[in-house]
Amino acid sequence: MSALAQKALTACAEHTRLKWEITKLTGQIGLALGACPKVDDETHVARAYKPVCSAEEWPEERYRTPAEIALDLSYCEHCQAAHAAIQQRKAARKQLGIVRRQITAIGKAAAKLACA
Ligand SMILES: [Zn+2]
Repeated sequence: MSALAQKALTACAEHTRLKWEITKLTGQIGLALGACPKVDDETHVARAYKPVCSAEEWPEERYRTPAEIALDLSYCEHCQAAHAAIQQRKAARKQLGIVRRQITAIGKAAAKLACA
């Protein structure tokens, strides 16, 4: 098998693995959020991810820092699990983007070989 074909197989396998991982994490997030007892009909995660006003005299929205989010979620183990899975899914989606670009590059290299 050529080096290019080996690269293509590796990239395709990684693409599939990441898609499975993202689907699995999405399921975990749904289950965890479904188990949250909720406050005012809102999960702790939904609250923690909402922007807050940083100053009263100059109302400017900003997002909570990771430490603030961790504090907000310390009251709910289900939302802590959901938040962890959301962060893992974010990383997996970023990795999926990298693999997709690799597949595009492999496809371009294969197309050049086919034309040569
Ligand atoms: Zn919760």
